[in-house]
Order: sequence, then C-alpha cells, then structure tokens
Amino acid sequence: MSEKDAAIKEAQQALDKVVKYYGIDASNVNVQVTFEWGNATRDAHTYSDRRVVINSPALIDAPSVAASVVHEVTHANQMKLHGVNEGTDVSLVVQNHHTREAMGYQAALSNADQLGLSDKKKQWYAEQVEGEKAQLSKDNLKLLESGQYWGMKAGQAGQ
Ligand SMILES: [Zn+2]
Repeated sequence: MSEKDAAIKEAQQALDKVVKYYGIDASNVNVQVTFEWGNATRDAHTYSDRRVVINSPALIDAPSVAASVVHEVTHANQMKLHGVNEGTDVSLVVQNHHTREAMGYQAALSNADQLGLSDKKKQWYAEQVEGEKAQLSKDNLKLLESGQYWGMKAGQAGQ
C-alpha cells in the first residue's frame, strides 16, 4: 500500500470512528460518509446523489469533523425527503439553498454541546446560520423559524 493510500485509509477510519462515536445517523447518505483526498479548498460536500465527502481541511479535531458531518448529513436527509434543489424558478432555488444551508449549520449548532464544539466554533456556526437567514424572504424566514419550511424542523440532525 502506498503512503498516500495508507493515509486515506487512516483518515477514513478516523471518520468512521467520529460518525460512530457521536452517533450520527448517516442512513440517508449514499454508501457512507467518505474521506476525499486532495481537495484543499473545501471542507465537505454533499453531491446530488447523496454521497457525502469530507476533505482534509475539515479534519481539525473530532468535534469539528463531527459538526461538518452533521451539516452534510442534514443535506443528504433534505435530498432524501425533498429531492435535489433544482428547478427553473431561480429565486425559489436560491431560497431553498439558503434554507438548506441554514438548517445544516443549525443542526451542527443545535448539537454543539453534545459534539463538544468550542465557543469559537459555536460562534462561527451561529454566524453562518444568521448569514443564511439574512438571505431569506420574510415569509420563508417565518416558515423556517416556525419549523414549517417543508414541514421540517430546523436544527434536528435526524430530519
Ligand atoms: Zn451546506
């Protein structure tokens, strides 16, 4: 096994342990939460086929990895329940995008204590939630905050 393959295997094992340790329900993820080698520009991503990849910049410490996984798993859940965010109504797609992101960040924030996130990280997640919410129309913000956007409740990782 090459050094690179060994490193990938090790990172994947660490990722598997994080998912298991924190009891993150990744059942809607296509195959498994997967470590992806080589993308130094992003932390994590959920593809439209519900594959979730975690990149090396996200591997800071266990709580940070877990929070990234919770965020991405939320997207996989959204896709499973509501499909991929696409369509010809651009403004609707944009609103859905910000709503999905707000929910993803909120899911991590809502589980912050359980995940053992630092205050600095909590603050960061809170800022992301507010940043996404700021992009929403008044009506959609109201729906999101009352847990009625798609009938989903923000902040629940299992949804
Ligand atoms: Zn996201």
